[in-house]
Amino acid sequence: MDITFLTFPTNRLSMNSIAYRILKENLILNKKFNIKQNLNYFQKYTDIFENEYKIFQHKTTDYSTNTIKYLANSPYGKSYLVSRLIPASETYSKIIYDDIKTENVIISMPSIYTLPYIKFLLTKNLKILLGGHFNFSYSFEQIRSFLTEMGSTEKELNNLIIFKGYLGLETDLHEIIINNKDYISYESDYKHSWENLSTLTYETIDEPFQIGSTNCLYVVFYSGCKYGKCAYCVWKNSTYTNFAEFISVEEMCNNIKSMCEKVNTKRIKFYDGDVKYDKKIEQFCKIMRNDGYEILFISSIFNLKSATNIKFYNECSDYLVLGIDTTDDYSLKIMNKMQKYADILDTKNKMILSLRKDIKIVFIVLIDAPMRNKQSIIDNYYKILNIKNDFFKNGFSDIQFNIFFMTNFPDIPLMNNNHYKLGVNEEYQVGNSNLCSILSKQNNLDYTNINKIMKPLLRVDENNNLLKSDFEYLDYNLIKELFI
Ligand code: SF4
Repeated sequence: MDITFLTFPTNRLSMNSIAYRILKENLILNKKFNIKQNLNYFQKYTDIFENEYKIFQHKTTDYSTNTIKYLANSPYGKSYLVSRLIPASETYSKIIYDDIKTENVIISMPSIYTLPYIKFLLTKNLKILLGGHFNFSYSFEQIRSFLTEMGSTEKELNNLIIFKGYLGLETDLHEIIINNKDYISYESDYKHSWENLSTLTYETIDEPFQIGSTNCLYVVFYSGCKYGKCAYCVWKNSTYTNFAEFISVEEMCNNIKSMCEKVNTKRIKFYDGDVKYDKKIEQFCKIMRNDGYEILFISSIFNLKSATNIKFYNECSDYLVLGIDTTDDYSLKIMNKMQKYADILDTKNKMILSLRKDIKIVFIVLIDAPMRNKQSIIDNYYKILNIKNDFFKNGFSDIQFNIFFMTNFPDIPLMNNNHYKLGVNEEYQVGNSNLCSILSKQNNLDYTNINKIMKPLLRVDENNNLLKSDFEYLDYNLIKELFI
């Protein structure tokens, strides 16, 4: 079967390298496939997409996959999340289609912003097998209903097959296309996949694509979430999997070193969401750090309350990412977070007391979270600034922020409660709708279709009065002091 394998720039980030490499190798190993093309539009048409390319290149810092650097350059003096938005522009659709010469197309969709392409390609009578990261977050029905809302017809959607779950090297995608039915698979032979990663033919197909100043290998040893209750989260449906369970420390070191070599880096990010003490990971990290690799963990406020974990981070990490989210108890409760402000302060004190001073710390902060009122929005950022300054006063030299907008995904449970409502009001629009319109104007990008599912949202306070986006209430100097 002739297939086109369509890739997007974010598939090529080292961030997705394991999943991307397994998918690539899966396609190569399946002799029933003849891969006609392997397209990457960002690289191929850089001259056409100069604006988008520029934004992409400036969007990252060493720490963040979103957009602190872009924030610094913004003529609006405000902070907006850019990552993932560029693919939502439909400017590419026709060019992509013109390059497709097969009836069957396999697409790994990195985010919801890829949907406009899918919608366009479905109008061309192509058979599309759609997998990827994003499909963990939404059900088959939701993805189909998003496309319907964008204008796909029932007949067009009959040509869409959605793959949901984990892909192993031997998952038969050919059979899934022939069967023409959505497919779900939460089982995969990770031991086999891991063992084979070091021999993959990745680089024979294309070169690793680097965005941002510093390349970095993103690795996941655990996936899924044991808590699963945060009201804004779209990942909580993914099953908990321990990839590292089936592989020896030695194999892990060899595989990861081989992948690092391919993406030309000695920095490794554990993108697990919650790395805590684990004997095997400890052994792995000690060997890797000894060999000159840098390690980043994503952890949590609660993990850092434990002396065992702090010792583990001291011995095994160079960077720590953890979610403050907000410092406001009213807000944290609405979002169903485990932590309260007191927990954040307690953790901060323990970190200051016991953590190595040269560990680089990245705090995740949520923008446009539900809030009691305007004053609590302002107070929240001053409290975060105090936390940052406390670290500096106590000898830490590298504190960064990774910001996320609450309104980044359609259909999350939080949007159905009383703290947001649908509506259009330029002045009060929160999050993405505002961003989309600004970016559209700035760069002549078309977000019409993505806007159909990213419904315009307004945030309300406890008395049902409209609240503007957080940054509208903050002094720009405060924003700069905090985030830039
Ligand atoms: S945001 Fe909450 S529910 Fe989602 S993965 Fe993190 S801890 Fe789990």
